[in-house]
Amino acid sequence: RGVPRMRMPVRSSTISVAPMLTKLQSDCATPLPVLRHVADSMSADMRAGLAVDGGSDLKMILSYVDSLPTGNEKGLFYALDLGGTNFRVLRVQLGGKEERVIATEFEQVTIPEKLMFGTSEELFDFIASVLANFAQQEGGKFHLPPGRKREIGFTFSFPVKQTSIDSGILMKWTKGFAVSGTAGNDVVACLNEAMDRKGLDMRVSALVNDTVGTLAGARYWDEDVVVAVILGTGTNACYVERMDAIPKMQGKFSPSGRTIVNLEWGAFSKGLPLTVFDRDMDAASINPGEQIFEKAISGMYLGEIARRALLNMAEEGALFGESMPEKLSMPFILVTPHLSAMQQDNTDDLQTVGSILYDVIGAESNLNSRKIVVEVCDTIVKRAGRLAGAGIVGILQKLEEDSTSAFFSKRTVVAMDGGLYERYPQCRQYIKEAVAELLGPETSQNIVIEHSKDGSGIGAALLAATNSQYDQDY
Ligand code: BGC
Ligand code: MG
Repeated sequence: RGVPRMRMPVRSSTISVAPMLTKLQSDCATPLPVLRHVADSMSADMRAGLAVDGGSDLKMILSYVDSLPTGNEKGLFYALDLGGTNFRVLRVQLGGKEERVIATEFEQVTIPEKLMFGTSEELFDFIASVLANFAQQEGGKFHLPPGRKREIGFTFSFPVKQTSIDSGILMKWTKGFAVSGTAGNDVVACLNEAMDRKGLDMRVSALVNDTVGTLAGARYWDEDVVVAVILGTGTNACYVERMDAIPKMQGKFSPSGRTIVNLEWGAFSKGLPLTVFDRDMDAASINPGEQIFEKAISGMYLGEIARRALLNMAEEGALFGESMPEKLSMPFILVTPHLSAMQQDNTDDLQTVGSILYDVIGAESNLNSRKIVVEVCDTIVKRAGRLAGAGIVGILQKLEEDSTSAFFSKRTVVAMDGGLYERYPQCRQYIKEAVAELLGPETSQNIVIEHSKDGSGIGAALLAATNSQYDQDY
């Protein structure tokens, strides 16, 4: 707790705030018909995006990943993971069917905020230098056959128009990144140039979205994985599609007859129950009008939506009494981990809620106002979780409609990862409930939603192996 301060008189405020809370709850409500509409629109948008490029909010990006890891992958591979908050480098030693993943080592760094607003060169130089440093520690432990380069699976978690398995053009930044000079360019070329500048002689053999890495990583252990979802700083999903169900492929061939498609579902926008707080947040964002689903359901934004709702309640409903908490008007001061922490508070007087409100926004609270704050958090995360659940069902529904066998009567695994999913138990619960409500108790028993922790890193290394340019294992 900070320096002792004069206590402001705190007025009981439930009377004037209560109708505001009710209004928020009804604006955010996701009863079954709303969920159904979202799931149906998701399926329809998927079809439209598979038909032609630009045919829908959903880009339905072809990943060029058409053979998934088998378990036979062998050798030492690297993975880079540039996503939201952190940047990670991994070294993975794969031992084939018997030994599987023999060892992994990794290093994680927070991306300095100024790099998110800097130039492409600065960002990629940073990545290359972390990689160079990490690669150096490999020492002489592993023998690299002459003429061979270390291969990297590059997880780049932004919308990329893939041009091959190892190249792709950044369409736009998301999740608060606004780096100049990358959009419109091949991100592998950007990385290669930075590695050249550092004198680092490695080669990217697979460029993948984090959802695709997660799917590959989870599939390595479980053959029933067909969908992967990230619910973290940002959000997205991918799934295994039949080639002949992708009209825009125009007869392109894959030996397996299947490929992974990246929905980029953050751009979905149909039928969402949005509030004035969502609209204002979007308008004030660096990408107004874009990533509307992402802004309603992902970790980067939930704290900010709650802050805007609380600010309104403080201003118009005296939620925190006569005084306005000093920091409540600062954008993004409240973050999703705060919401989660407040919702895990089991004390009678909501002590944790009280100290978070005091420490983070400088608010004096009483039990009534704390209860309202918890309700606000719950309202926002409930909407997020249930909408994510509806999105998942939208994908499953599309697969079932196209299936000639009884799709829903067999086990299907959805691999999930991301901080919001991992560290917000209520969110996980709401996802599950929505899936069960939409599919019914029997069908939903066959749908396994599984946490694939950090699967995208190993997944990218596996895909680097699967797509290695060398034939010989070593
Ligand atoms: C990006 C996706 C990514 C997702 C989760 C979104 O903002 O557009 O490519 O998969 O975040 O990291
Ligand atoms: Mg990530």
